[in-house]
Amino acid sequence: MAITDRIRDDGPRPQPLIHPDTAPFWAGLEAGELRVQRCTACGTHRFPFEPICHACLSFDLTWEPIAPSGTVATAVRAVRATGDPAWAAHVPFISGSVDMEHDLRLPGRILCTCGEALRRGTSVRVVLLVSPDRPTIHAFAHNCVPAAG
Ligand SMILES: [Zn+2]
Ligand SMILES: [Zn+2]
Repeated sequence: MAITDRIRDDGPRPQPLIHPDTAPFWAGLEAGELRVQRCTACGTHRFPFEPICHACLSFDLTWEPIAPSGTVATAVRAVRATGDPAWAAHVPFISGSVDMEHDLRLPGRILCTCGEALRRGTSVRVVLLVSPDRPTIHAFAHNCVPAAG
């Protein structure tokens, strides 16, 4: 379950907004795990995060790690920075959503230099983008991106 790829990422980036309700997700990334909400009443894994279970309306939840791998559901190559100006340092880049276990679909950047990750169904793994004094964030990486230490 542990995410072993830690990629140094000191470039400009928008900072995540860490709210008390979502803080366990970010703490999980710092600990090398991709943690999501799981309802303790019915067992449903949840993303996006929500205060009440959409399946059974329970308020009771835990945060549990999921397997850090999945397959591309959607992907686009951004060739122009829009929104936060920090993205100008990254274009072109691939962003999209990835199907994970438990019927979860997570968004994120997809690191891929060969372009294969633009195809639906391509296997990708979760990597951590780390930088001193900034929150660790996740991204997805295709096999063409070598494993980092
Ligand atoms: Zn539930
Ligand atoms: Zn690739």
